[in-house]
Amino acid sequence: MTKKKKVDSLEMMLHRMIDRIRQSLELSVILSSTVAEVRAFLNTDRVKIYQFEADGSGEVVAESVDSQKLSSLLGQHFPAEDIPLEIRELYLRERQRTIVNIASRQIGMSSSVNGNSEAEIKFREVDPCHAEYLVAMGAQSSLVVPIVDRDRLWGLLVSHHSLPQIVTKNELEVVQLIADQTSIAIAQSNLLESTRAQAKQEASINRVGEFLHSMTEMQLQKALKQTVFAVQGSGGRVYITPQNTESEGQLFVSGEQPLLLAQEEENSQSFVPLEKHPSWQTWLKNTLQSRDLALPLAIADFDANPLPSDWKICFKPTRIKSIITIKLEYRQKILGYLSIFRQGIDIETIWAKRPDRDDPRNQFPRKSFEIWRELKQNKARPWTSSEIELAQTLGNHFAIAIYQYQLYQQVRALNASLELRVQERTAELQQANQKLVQEISDRLKTRASLERLSHQNELILNSAGEGIYGLNLEGITTFVNPAAAEILGYGVDELESQPIHEIVNHSTAEGIVYSWQETPIYQTLQTGEIHYITNEIFWRKDRTNFPVEYVSTPIREQEQIVGAVVIFKDITERLIIDRMKDEFVSVVSHELRTPLTSIRSAIGVLSSGRLEPKSSKSQRLLEIALNNSNHLVRLINDILDLERIKSGKVTMLKENHNAADLMTDAVEIVQSMADKAQITISVTPLSVQLWSDRDRLIQTLTNLLSNAIKFSPPHTTVHLDAQLQSDGTIRFEVKDRGRGIPPDSLETIFDRFQQVDASDSRDRGGTGLGLAICRSIVQQHGGQIWVESILGQGSTFCFTLPIGD
Ligand code: ADP
Repeated sequence: MTKKKKVDSLEMMLHRMIDRIRQSLELSVILSSTVAEVRAFLNTDRVKIYQFEADGSGEVVAESVDSQKLSSLLGQHFPAEDIPLEIRELYLRERQRTIVNIASRQIGMSSSVNGNSEAEIKFREVDPCHAEYLVAMGAQSSLVVPIVDRDRLWGLLVSHHSLPQIVTKNELEVVQLIADQTSIAIAQSNLLESTRAQAKQEASINRVGEFLHSMTEMQLQKALKQTVFAVQGSGGRVYITPQNTESEGQLFVSGEQPLLLAQEEENSQSFVPLEKHPSWQTWLKNTLQSRDLALPLAIADFDANPLPSDWKICFKPTRIKSIITIKLEYRQKILGYLSIFRQGIDIETIWAKRPDRDDPRNQFPRKSFEIWRELKQNKARPWTSSEIELAQTLGNHFAIAIYQYQLYQQVRALNASLELRVQERTAELQQANQKLVQEISDRLKTRASLERLSHQNELILNSAGEGIYGLNLEGITTFVNPAAAEILGYGVDELESQPIHEIVNHSTAEGIVYSWQETPIYQTLQTGEIHYITNEIFWRKDRTNFPVEYVSTPIREQEQIVGAVVIFKDITERLIIDRMKDEFVSVVSHELRTPLTSIRSAIGVLSSGRLEPKSSKSQRLLEIALNNSNHLVRLINDILDLERIKSGKVTMLKENHNAADLMTDAVEIVQSMADKAQITISVTPLSVQLWSDRDRLIQTLTNLLSNAIKFSPPHTTVHLDAQLQSDGTIRFEVKDRGRGIPPDSLETIFDRFQQVDASDSRDRGGTGLGLAICRSIVQQHGGQIWVESILGQGSTFCFTLPIGD
């Protein structure tokens, strides 16, 4: 191969490499094509890429080998001491490349740090151990170029040849270039990996979120399963703490779970989920104290971090080796815990060379590569920081979703109870409405009847003959009826809302002023007593007064006195009547006593036996007694008659009679009396039909005629005349030429027991009731009676009667 050709193939190979790296982002593809290209370029028997683990051991991750010449080392692990730490550091710090040639026992070393690709290869004698190691792998010559990813020794690109081979400086630089490209590819691939992981995480978060935030039915179980899957756990659980003392905590589980924990209660033992056990809180507290609050609580390996003693029992039967717990917290409220478990795994390592040097197989290189299997069982697989971060993110979603779900449940419960409340309230309102309607109609009825009542009251008050006024506690009028106003001489509105005491009953008849507090009405307001008063006077507007009788009664409202009502009447007339009655009684008793005294004394003398019964004196006394008895009988008859006629107890039996008949009949009755007194009666009868009580009219006429006879001197004439008048009445006249009547007696003689002369009764046998009876009869017939007289010349008694009914 010419030099030019070699350069061409070199360039071509570089292009191919770079293209491949650009085309594929899959690291395994890049690595396997890298080893193939390098082997083709160097024309060696085995090119491999060796990747370091964190502990310094490593594994062959890509290889191109001529299996005729050398054994395959792909997938084999090499212990850390195969490439000691100081060598690894040299690779990293100096970017040291080494070329070993067993045949010449030479090792060439060249540092490529600071881009010094043209650096010289310095040769020295190879370490026999190193040479032995290569020989054990069947290599006579080797080339090693470090692969550095950022500041980490990622791995080595190694070429072995079963025969001695010289590696030129150029070849070394080309391999270096390829190693550099590989580094770039590794970085890109890592970037891709992390982008993929991130995308995967985001997808997981989205899926979990979808389950969680479907509000109506929280698909927590599914979300949990998805979460366990996303964080690569073997199981997990969500414990929702009880919202209040009445409710229970809720537990959702997925995959393998720890057992329930025994909890001592008062007298018994119960089994509860981990999160409800007191040791859970202790663990949280202790763990939180020792770390950043924001971080989840993760135990990477139960074997390395001893569990709380209580827990051992519940985790023992399981394969769970790690736990990560996220506090589900939202708005300072702990809603529960999300825990994810991870089971231990079995790790199989295929060792290219056991560290025990005494093994005879190590003496025979080919044989030494018989694969040694190392199986580590149930080993914890620690959480990566991205897994912890993912768990935390998902936990946040859980917290928000649970919060929202609980809120939603509360709203739903509230809504349900609200609906119930609305229904109840509606029913209540309907009931209240019905009651209200009933009440309104009742009230309207009551109002109507109240109005009726108040109208009636008003009518009663207005039509009452008595004066009525109401007072409040201050003595101000609250109502005054028309009768009260009229009696007092005011208008109703003049008396309303007035201090009535100042107007009506401020002083006595003698003008002695007395205060409101001294009145019985004030007493009524104070004590509630009813007062009947008959001896006071009230004042009118015109400053005159009148005797009054009143009663003051309290007005009460709910047991409280709120005012008084005063009912009064003017008793002037009654007092007059009372006086007249008193007078009447004294007159009657006097009138009765006089004849009785005569009778008694006559009988007294006769009964003494001192007189001869047949003597003229005895006879005289008997006559006196008889006359006085007759007088008494007359008197009593007249009194009774008058009272009966006046009181209307005697009804007039009216019929049609001829007035002329009545006049002649009357004259006939008194004729003998006239004759005895030597009086002539002249009658001019008037023939007119008269609607009258015959006997009562004759009684009237005879009364007047007998008076005329009584008070006329002998040999005079008494006239009885009647005329029909223009107003349809008959006017009767009884005219005498007697002693006449003094003017001041013209009226009074028609009253009872009124006589012009006190001796008239005694001398003329009169009772003083005749004219009073006449007046009553005439009045009962609807007529009038009077007397015209000139003292000493005679009197004319006249009366009129309507002729028809
Ligand atoms: P008496 O029974 O006393 O007559 P009367 O009522 O009839 O009672 O009369 C009342 C009084 O009127 C008489 O007592 C008398 O004084 C007076 N008197 C009545 N009629 C006449 C008369 N014709 N002339 C004068 N005085 C008369």
